[in-house]
Amino acid sequence: MTDFDLHIHSKHSIGVSPDMEIPVISSEAERKGLDMVGTGDILNPEWRKHVENTLKDTETGFKYQDVKFVLTVEVEDKDRIHHLIIFPDFETVENVYKSFEQFSSDIDSEGRPRLSLDGEEIAEIAKENGCLIGPCHAFTPYTGIYGKKDSLKQCYGDQKSKLDFLELGLSADSEMASKISDHDDLVFLSNSDAHSPWPHRLGREFNRAELTEENFNGLNKLFNREQGKVTLNVGLNPKEGKYHCSACNSCHQKYTLKQAEEFSWRCQECSGKIKKGVKDRVKELKDKEPEYEAKYLKAPPLSKIIQYTVGHASPTTKTVQEKYDELTRGLGAEVDILIDKHIDRIAEFDSDVAKSIRKFREGNIVMVPGGGGSYGERIIPDDREHIEQVKERRSSEIQCRYEN
Ligand SMILES: [Zn+2]
Ligand SMILES: [Zn+2]
Ligand SMILES: [Zn+2]
Repeated sequence: MTDFDLHIHSKHSIGVSPDMEIPVISSEAERKGLDMVGTGDILNPEWRKHVENTLKDTETGFKYQDVKFVLTVEVEDKDRIHHLIIFPDFETVENVYKSFEQFSSDIDSEGRPRLSLDGEEIAEIAKENGCLIGPCHAFTPYTGIYGKKDSLKQCYGDQKSKLDFLELGLSADSEMASKISDHDDLVFLSNSDAHSPWPHRLGREFNRAELTEENFNGLNKLFNREQGKVTLNVGLNPKEGKYHCSACNSCHQKYTLKQAEEFSWRCQECSGKIKKGVKDRVKELKDKEPEYEAKYLKAPPLSKIIQYTVGHASPTTKTVQEKYDELTRGLGAEVDILIDKHIDRIAEFDSDVAKSIRKFREGNIVMVPGGGGSYGERIIPDDREHIEQVKERRSSEIQCRYEN
């Protein structure tokens, strides 16, 4: 069983922590329980040098201590859509770099370069060079493919059939993505898009798969459906996302798709603009009933669960971090605590955190969805009765409806 996260950024990407270097990423991945991580930003020459100098190129793939790495980059196309590319080796990185160089003004300075090419051209170059490629955070309103296009074909043209995977992103889960028949052949990935090594960032979403090899070849076989399969995607509840419901960008009043259309996307409260939510975008694109192969566990990272349980404002406070250290020291890697460890065993260390983990595993959480740029709100209820009370009291918000 391999737990992996293929979308992260190095310190060379804008807004990324200076701590994002291979030794730190590796040690934090290990604490987290990730077996394999993407390097991110591999087209950036300085980062590539650092990666080449720090990773060990072994017979079974790239490694730093016990963590395996695959060479990855996220690029932005001329429509501002993001794509994730996975490379077999450094020679291929160099070849693709040479093809992209003339179409980018920031490929030497940025970690996530902007290319003056469209999705089809980028995919063609990637596939010609033997890389793996798919759209990043497909449903993210501003930089995901469905924020700009109505189908994979519209973005990737004839390369569509060569796509390897679809990254769900924080705003969608497998159920939502599988309502679109275009996705039937694609493996769904849940990656973190981490900008810092904090345990609530790195691996905040991750994949669990049966892989024949923990390297590029293993992924290639997985995506081609030759050997191996994803058994679990772990990620945030899409309702947490800032654009889950259609809602006013100014006052965050929520609307159903029908209401928003009726009101010509103008807020009835403040006349602000109603931003279409991911939920409603999927509704427009839906052409089949959802059906997907890997289970999807909606759970936030452990430090977030501790934060909610102790009632702190941030997962980086000393109390939360000390509790996190105590649990991971006593019970092993975070991923195992979240998914595998028996609740009674976790309760030996902290019964309240154990209870919260059980509620996430069982899906007994009430989410008041986000929208219009404001995050969703999570309520960890005390019991069944509490759930019913919250659902009744906040029903229009939960159903993303406007009531006048
Ligand atoms: Zn992106
Ligand atoms: Zn990214
Ligand atoms: Zn408004």
